[in-house]
Amino acid sequence: MLKEAKKILKEIYGYDDFRDGQIGIIESVLLRKDTLGIVATGGGKSVCYQIPALIFPGITLIVSPLISLMKDQVDALKILGINAAYLNSSLTSLEFSEVMKNIKKRTIKILYVSPERLNSEYFIRFIKGVKIGFLAIDEAHCISHWGHDFRKSYLEIPKFIENIGQKIPILALTATATPEVKTDIVEKLKMKTPDIYVDGFDRSNIFFKVEREKEPLGYIVNYLKSHKNRSGIIYASTRKEVDSLYSYLKLKGYDIEKYHAGMEDKERIKAQERFVKDEVGVVIATNAFGMGIDKSNVRFVIHRNIPKDLESYYQEVGRVGRDGAPGEAILLYFEDDENIQKYFIENNSELTEELKKNKFKKLDQMIEYAYVESCYREYILQYFGDKKIRSYCGNCNNCSKIKDVENYTIEAQMVFSCIGRSKESVGVSSLVNILLGKLDSKLEKRGVQNFTTFGIMKNKNRDWLEEFIVFLISEEYLLQSAGSFPVILLTKKAYDVVKNVKRVVRRNGEKTSYDYYESPLFKKLLELRKKIALKENVAPYIIFSDLTLLELSEKKPSTRWEMLKIRGVGNQKFNNYGEGFLKIINKNTEVKLNYDEKKLEQLKEVLGLECDILELDRTIKDILF
Ligand code: ADP
Ligand code: ZN
Repeated sequence: MLKEAKKILKEIYGYDDFRDGQIGIIESVLLRKDTLGIVATGGGKSVCYQIPALIFPGITLIVSPLISLMKDQVDALKILGINAAYLNSSLTSLEFSEVMKNIKKRTIKILYVSPERLNSEYFIRFIKGVKIGFLAIDEAHCISHWGHDFRKSYLEIPKFIENIGQKIPILALTATATPEVKTDIVEKLKMKTPDIYVDGFDRSNIFFKVEREKEPLGYIVNYLKSHKNRSGIIYASTRKEVDSLYSYLKLKGYDIEKYHAGMEDKERIKAQERFVKDEVGVVIATNAFGMGIDKSNVRFVIHRNIPKDLESYYQEVGRVGRDGAPGEAILLYFEDDENIQKYFIENNSELTEELKKNKFKKLDQMIEYAYVESCYREYILQYFGDKKIRSYCGNCNNCSKIKDVENYTIEAQMVFSCIGRSKESVGVSSLVNILLGKLDSKLEKRGVQNFTTFGIMKNKNRDWLEEFIVFLISEEYLLQSAGSFPVILLTKKAYDVVKNVKRVVRRNGEKTSYDYYESPLFKKLLELRKKIALKENVAPYIIFSDLTLLELSEKKPSTRWEMLKIRGVGNQKFNNYGEGFLKIINKNTEVKLNYDEKKLEQLKEVLGLECDILELDRTIKDILF
């Protein structure tokens, strides 16, 4: 059955493999076992219930706490060609009976229901006669007092299961769960010896940073200045703080929105919608904002004030980079800010003394985070009891400060020599093949197997090499040419390395990414995505994620077949939108990259490329033998 699940993942969702955290959960559900899945925000929870729902006969029910989230999910499913619907208070009675009719006709596979609806007499009577695959409970931590979003109606779920009188497995999903919350979920939902999965908690694409005692307004303005065109959320802890930051940034001419519970519903909905649809880049908000927003292309979250606990913090910053592309989580910390949180706890009359004590402890742990001098990620993962603890993540501000740089000069020389040998006429994938010693008929015809550099890096793997070449391009040792078949060229910096005048060093574990938001092709793809989204009346990232567009702009597929290999492009999406994107890519592969071709020619002449190839090879031989 896992095979079938994989097939669906590829054909419908356009992804090659499940993420680590997804496999166990899906397998367990397919075996009809009660399952608790703890998956970090952006880890891909939806797929965990949607794919089994498509495999099981009957309808699958998803309990979800937020109306906006349901709509988003149903929109996304419809675009994938899956029949889904939701039942909540936003429906008119006409819409409601339409959904009921479709359930009766067995045309709906996935039904989202708000917890308040579950036990309505009408619904129970109706659903009793329908075969249910299983019941998934999203944001399952809402059932626990210990969690941070307790929702009373969640306690009604076990009664519902009793009421419908069918034996169905339960899948409870949440992004934030401390050990207490975990136990609470299992007990309150009356799950029977559930399989529990806590994998995939780490969000490796988020860069964590704390700035202590920095002048906040200046910091934020500078940040926004250097991160244009990017979607981000700035959280502040009070409405007043949100209002004043909003006014300040507005005055500075920034096009932003604000969001807090003190605003009119209409205003809030508008702000959220403009943000989700990429009409505005940045929103300043209290923690009232974000629950139920699935927007996958949020690139940064800045906290103007310290949040109340790490659960909230991790959930809020978890909104960064759900699409897998890089993003940042920045906490601005000032000692005085704690007082706001302390005040909130102290004056919350609904809390018992015990709960208050618990909240103070959580706040202390949050403050401790701001002072951590080792890896930020490790601190967070440890807090949540994640098993996979490493002492160094390479992608947080502390790690980037403490780790030594590593010398990659020899590796770089090997790559440069190979490019020289091939007379600067190969693209990235051929280059990698030659270095790995892999032949295809095209390469064989060119005689690359006779190069001294053929297979010179066969002890490395393909992913490492591809990433390393991207690093060399981003550091301007290499250039990628324009045209339909971009080839890799050497720059003066590369010659300096070969002559041992320059070393290639790199932070350990550092990942490189292009500033793709500035690439002309990426911008064009964004425009097309926005146009389609407007027509379909959905958020842009539902059409294709940022990561998919990034891959499109990097790999530049030119045919349907090539485009289906890009992550996030499945059959249905290709049929609906693929051609338009291909057209733009094909048109734009002619666009020149921003380097001076003439200068490069002169450089080659001066250095004498032919003789340099020999020199390159000699250098490599000297190093190796
Ligand atoms: P969350 O866990 O926050 O609900 P989502 O279900 O919205 O996360 O998934 C986050 C993103 O990850 C989505 O863009 C989704 O399409 C993508 N995704 C899910 N599963 C995979 C996978 N196996 N490979 C690549 N991307 C995936
Ligand atoms: Zn780290």
